[in-house]
Amino acid sequence: MAAIASAPASFLQAMTAVKRAFNFSAGPGVLPDEVVHQCQQDLWSIDSTGIGIMEHSHRAKTFDKVLADAEANCRKIANVPSNYKILFVTGGATTQNEMVPKNLLAQGQGAAFLTTGYWAEKTWEECRAHFPSSYEAWDGRVTKHTYCPADNELKWQDKPGYVHYCSNNTIYGTQFRNSDGSFRYPSIPWSDVPVVCDMSSDIYSRPLDISKFGLIYAGAQKNVGIAGTTLVIIREDLLDLHKKLGKKLFTMETYATHAKGESRHNTPPAFPIYVSGLVFKWILSQGGLETMHKHNMDKAAIVYKAIDAGFYKGHARPDSRSAMNVLFRCPTPELDDKFIAEALKHGMDQLKGHRSTGGVRASIYNAMPKAGCEAIAQFMADFAKRNG
Ligand SMILES: *Cc1c(COP(=O)(O)O)cnc(C)c1O
Repeated sequence: MAAIASAPASFLQAMTAVKRAFNFSAGPGVLPDEVVHQCQQDLWSIDSTGIGIMEHSHRAKTFDKVLADAEANCRKIANVPSNYKILFVTGGATTQNEMVPKNLLAQGQGAAFLTTGYWAEKTWEECRAHFPSSYEAWDGRVTKHTYCPADNELKWQDKPGYVHYCSNNTIYGTQFRNSDGSFRYPSIPWSDVPVVCDMSSDIYSRPLDISKFGLIYAGAQKNVGIAGTTLVIIREDLLDLHKKLGKKLFTMETYATHAKGESRHNTPPAFPIYVSGLVFKWILSQGGLETMHKHNMDKAAIVYKAIDAGFYKGHARPDSRSAMNVLFRCPTPELDDKFIAEALKHGMDQLKGHRSTGGVRASIYNAMPKAGCEAIAQFMADFAKRNG
């Protein structure tokens, strides 16, 4: 192949000489350095094709391999059973608020919801508006979404078409977890009711048993890539449930379409899928989910210890503390602002809490290095000393 230009090495060198901040953004979030470096190379030319990843046809061999590898590695990470499909769809996690009920509920049927946070509220409200026999088996608003309910706190009513919950509440910083931080699966009274889980902010941060779910979805931009694609892991019998329920949906609304077309019925978000593929490879290279879990528990312990030292007030009840999003407040909102501004000067960015909660939020997803958690914990101690 005759190259018309060579890779701009001096430009790459100059760029990587720039120091990166510790990025505590809740989403889009931090990516592993190795992934960003690989993107820099492949934007120019991937696999010696002389064509960058963003410029390849989604039907070309190069992309066939990108997609196949992404799927295979995604499957390998969590031992996704063979009766589940892995799909990369568009529209963000929010579009799943529409696709899930359209595909899984018959007209007049309802679903049951565990409302544990901001995104779970949105999911419930959307479904209720279109399927009014839906109900909440848990309403966490009354306790300000400070924890995830125990099984005996859930109020089940009629048998629903599915049960929906969110494993990690990005905005309130709570997570369904056991005392060692491992995945806690709420127990559902019906074995034949599919469980649907929004794992946008903690997918692949710890081991999980896919077979407990009918459908899992996650916007890629928090733990497994960038904005533009949403990972859907769906049990095969649910792919065309809408047909069995006697419903007629538009082509792009059905999971069956995306499964049949192997995530490219139409032009898929090729670059975001490619980035997710790199993140999956990175997770495997780190040792997989057991290692991720240990790494994340270590990191979270460093930051929560700084909260428990006094001065700061954490939002989550300790037994529901998220290892992904750590929320806390200083004694006054003015001190929160001061904390955020001073932390920025020390190379720690994106610490402002969501507009609905205020305070400080440190998101410490898989790709946040331990050094970032040590840096913020040290800054917290120092700030408390100076302002306490
Ligand atoms: C960020 C987030 C969403 C929204 O994702 P979009 O891709 O922006 O639609 C939904 N649920 C959870 C748990 C999230 O963290």
